[in-house]
Amino acid sequence: MHLRSLRAGGAITALTACFFLTLSTRALAQNIDTAAIKAMVAGKKDTAKSKIKPYKEVVPATAKTSRGFFLIHKVDDRWLAAIPDSLLGRDMLVVTRIVKGPTGYNFLKAMAGAFSYAGDVVNQSVIRLERLTDDKVFLRSVTYIERSEDSSANGLYRNIQDNNVQPIEAAFPVKAVNPAGKSVVIDLTDFISSENDVLYFNAQLKPFLSLTALAADRSFIENITAFPMNIEIRTERTYNDAPGKGAHTYELNSSIVLLPSDPMRSRPADLRIGLFYDSYMDFDKDPQGVRASNHIWRWRMEPKPEDRERYLRGELVEPANPIVIYVDPETPKKWVPYLIQGINDWQAAFEQAGFKNAIVGKEAPVGDSTWSMEDARHSVLLYHASPIENANGPSIKDPRTGEILETHINWFHNVMQILYDWYFVQAAAIDPRARHPHFDDSLMGTLIRFVSSHEVGHTLGMQHNFGASSTVPVDSLRSKAWVDAHGHTPSIMDYARFNYVAQPEDGIDEKGIFPRIGDYDKWTIDWGYRWVPATMSAEAEKDTLNAWIVRQLASGPQYFYGAQTNPLSPMRDPGNPDPRDQNEDLGDDAMKAGEYGIRNLKRIEPHLMEWTMGPQDDYGKLEHMYDALVGQYGRYMGHVLKNIGGEMITPKSPGQQGPVISYPSKEKQQRAMAFLNAQLFATPNWLIDEKLYSLGAGDFSKVARLQTKVIGELLSPDRLHQLSEQEVAMGSKTYTINGMLHDLQSGLFSELPTGKPIDPYRRAIQKYYVNELVVTLGADTAGRREIQSTSDVFPNLKADARALAASIKQSLPGYPAGETREHLADLYDRLEWTLKPRN
Ligand SMILES: [Zn+2]
Repeated sequence: MHLRSLRAGGAITALTACFFLTLSTRALAQNIDTAAIKAMVAGKKDTAKSKIKPYKEVVPATAKTSRGFFLIHKVDDRWLAAIPDSLLGRDMLVVTRIVKGPTGYNFLKAMAGAFSYAGDVVNQSVIRLERLTDDKVFLRSVTYIERSEDSSANGLYRNIQDNNVQPIEAAFPVKAVNPAGKSVVIDLTDFISSENDVLYFNAQLKPFLSLTALAADRSFIENITAFPMNIEIRTERTYNDAPGKGAHTYELNSSIVLLPSDPMRSRPADLRIGLFYDSYMDFDKDPQGVRASNHIWRWRMEPKPEDRERYLRGELVEPANPIVIYVDPETPKKWVPYLIQGINDWQAAFEQAGFKNAIVGKEAPVGDSTWSMEDARHSVLLYHASPIENANGPSIKDPRTGEILETHINWFHNVMQILYDWYFVQAAAIDPRARHPHFDDSLMGTLIRFVSSHEVGHTLGMQHNFGASSTVPVDSLRSKAWVDAHGHTPSIMDYARFNYVAQPEDGIDEKGIFPRIGDYDKWTIDWGYRWVPATMSAEAEKDTLNAWIVRQLASGPQYFYGAQTNPLSPMRDPGNPDPRDQNEDLGDDAMKAGEYGIRNLKRIEPHLMEWTMGPQDDYGKLEHMYDALVGQYGRYMGHVLKNIGGEMITPKSPGQQGPVISYPSKEKQQRAMAFLNAQLFATPNWLIDEKLYSLGAGDFSKVARLQTKVIGELLSPDRLHQLSEQEVAMGSKTYTINGMLHDLQSGLFSELPTGKPIDPYRRAIQKYYVNELVVTLGADTAGRREIQSTSDVFPNLKADARALAASIKQSLPGYPAGETREHLADLYDRLEWTLKPRN
């Protein structure tokens, strides 16, 4: 997912396209020892066999039949399946989606819209049908968390199977055997009608959706249709809510997709490349232990057999199976061309991997009864009439190999709201087209094209690259020639929205303002999708993949991948301390970039009303736009803040130069503190707008909250701990806690040495700061214990408080009686009381 709005600071609030992974509750295991189970149930055969009836009796001539990879027969109100013997034991993926969501679920729609909109996946699993006894077909669910190569010589493989029997979820009596078709007939009706974890909401999910028991009397099977690669089951399901709270009715579609009989060659993931991956426990990787292995998610992209020689010679060829993404027929017509363009823009990236016309956006067929959006063979961009300001790009994969089989991109109508806000606050100073209450269709369409490309990137397996923008010098962002040639960030998978650094006098236009598929994106597609012949061994492929990365990263900074989470511990530590890997930021220096960004905000602020308000609008819109502007200003503060105590992590292999762990220079961290003092703690008078305030729209308290939030962040145990770690590693070459506290305090109390008056906003942040000190030093809190225990943080804070008390004492006589003097006297008393030794 993607485009979460951030109102302030640099916090990450993104769900990713791998959202659904966390919801699987399927038990562990991988393959099964069918012989053992056969032996277990062998005794019952004889009596059961007599219940198997002649085929024609079970499937009469009047049956309505749908033909696909197995046959579906409707006989009266029963749904029968004729499963060919050849499909018994084959893995099938089951994906259940919402076709029509229940009404009145606004509280869920606020939860990023998960599980309540048409197209949302509510369950996916892998199943296998097996005739373990003569009289029954069993449905087993399958997972792939522990693995070893299937080989008769491999004892580990057999051992893993012995300890990972996959759960049997259902049993179907064999109704008939068709000797001619070599198939068995079973009745699916009761299983599909029942509540089960294979097809429907699992137990973890139901409480989120307020679903209790299935109301069987208000649930039914609408239809089952068979296709060559998939079976589509359409159901109407009603679930009771808590007693007295009514019920929720869903129309659901479950697709059963036959997984390829020739699994795609998987490709191992690498921390230096931002592609999604699945992990599993690998018993083969290390002959003396068990290691985690993984494979990236990617589409099967191969040259046609007759083109392979040409491909390997470096000629561009078309892939055997291009990726086709259809646009929802219910999409407003005027946006369709932009959405399609956003899809087709990826063709250039695949060309770098040797494939032409590899990905194509198309309008969905209308009036074609054989084409359905729910059909799992079709990838679709779904357009939702929704207030959610977002879009996301989840995909369905073969769990054995990471092969992406299809995608259903969710596009929420109101993403246009957030695009308007962003473009306005980031680009209105340099693009006159943004200075209107509504953008014209061509500007909004171009914005939609950019988001479409970003979401499609996720469906190709790409993660966010929050580090991409950090590879661009801030000065280059102001050079028209440079941004025309390279864009303002090398990756569309960054959250680098628009070029807010560019100044009006730079003459930069759309090409240099918008993100686009860049050098990093093309390289990542090249690395993930470049085809290697089947004759290349897995080991040789790994060496090749590593060599490609080493070579590419040495060739230029633009290929850097900066992860959204800590690259060294993505599961344990969701926060990334690396100041390069930030969302919504630009350039290699947050202070310089923020300064230019603020210059532009100062140009926009006086025109907020004139540029954003239409004659019909109420002042709520003005308030919203002022908030959007303060939110943008707050992002600049967050970007700068992360440099103080930041830690840079660059995963490397032994063949690469330089450190994995490093820190921002002392000079840079000092500049970060100076920036905060100048731009945030010195009252930003330009944000005090009396006219807006009189209209109920310019509430400065939002700025005040930002000031105290940043002070709190600077004094947080986490940051102090990070600074202390730096000091231990680098000594006085880095920014010390002492240095940071001294600079912060000098900035917050800059009036004291000269006796300058202190305005009420400044008094407020001074109080807040002293309060933080007093709480940390004086109270017996967990925070105090933490900083007291091993580091120098506590004595540093204490010395800091002493110095402040002394300088207040010295300045007090210079202030005349009045509010400021009372304020300072109060601060002094509080510090003294805290510092006073007690028994
Ligand atoms: Zn995204």
